[in-house]
Amino acid sequence: MIIDLRSDTVTKPTKGMRDAMFNAEVGDDVFGEEPTVNALEEKIAKLFGKEAALFCPSGTMTNQIAIKIHTQPGDEVLCDATAHIYNYEGGGISLNSGAQAKLLQGERGQISAQQVAENINPNFDWLTRTSLVCIENTANKAGGSYYSFKQMQELAIECKKNKLNYHLDGARIFNAIIENDYTPLDIGKLFDSISVCLSKGLGAPVGSLLLGDREFIRKARRVRKVFGGGMRQAGYLAAAGIYALDNNLIRLKEDHKRAKQLSTVINGLDYIDTVLPVDTNIIIFNLKENVKPDQFLQQLASNNLKATSFGKQAIRFVTHLDFTDEMLEKVERILKSI
Ligand SMILES: *Cc1c(COP(=O)(O)O)cnc(C)c1O
Repeated sequence: MIIDLRSDTVTKPTKGMRDAMFNAEVGDDVFGEEPTVNALEEKIAKLFGKEAALFCPSGTMTNQIAIKIHTQPGDEVLCDATAHIYNYEGGGISLNSGAQAKLLQGERGQISAQQVAENINPNFDWLTRTSLVCIENTANKAGGSYYSFKQMQELAIECKKNKLNYHLDGARIFNAIIENDYTPLDIGKLFDSISVCLSKGLGAPVGSLLLGDREFIRKARRVRKVFGGGMRQAGYLAAAGIYALDNNLIRLKEDHKRAKQLSTVINGLDYIDTVLPVDTNIIIFNLKENVKPDQFLQQLASNNLKATSFGKQAIRFVTHLDFTDEMLEKVERILKSI
């Protein structure tokens, strides 16, 4: 048995999901004739109370399309220093949009309305134009922490006041929703655009959705084509997404429960320095200085346990749909044996 805690992207479609994919009705989505893609886009748009949605191959693409539409070359994007759009999208902010990022030092990946207010450039010829605020919920590099509704709302008010666009990188938004008292509809009201991943905790093999108003999504369709993301009979993939939304939302709680359980065990190990607080399905912990991360990962690997290094002494575990209670017990045994 191989246990893979590198990411929640490693899940494989279940029998039910594969049946849904196999039976999907398909057409050509570039011509707008993909019944299953259209159904998925309508379903998620309705869920968040947005006018429209667009199915894309990845969350990097949905974020990058949003940045492209919300900025002009030479503009500035405000985001947290740990943001995926800045750290893990290949420099796409500058490469795709000719824009730059101003990094804010948030609290566990979360920036505040006050920080945004303090970092908007005044309208001088020699200053970069601030045009977009992007937040991440849950925050990946910050350990799966989430925003409260109030925090997101205060940022929305600040953006509106200053005519800034407001984008949510919601790759793991359902992990946040399941732990909070806000709904997709509440979130939909706050943002100009939202990116949601189906291939993380929801267990679909491929795909992310970009949500916004009709005019925004019309532009997004065009940018998606230019970025090379226009797909044809993508209904086979969209069917997996519909299945995921229907079946795999509530169960995210289980991933969170297992992550918390695992973090308690990790906290008690003598070779561990610190464990970041675990709010959802991501566990980031730091090894003591005398433990080499490469060697530690190798020891895990020799026990058929896969994990990733997350910079310096940090290691990341992510729980997911294919990680069972039986596996949890095995991981506990492996960690204690090292
Ligand atoms: C995974 C992820 C994305 C998108 O990644 P893709 O691999 O391109 O789908 C975007 N933002 C965050 C926070 C993520 O964790």
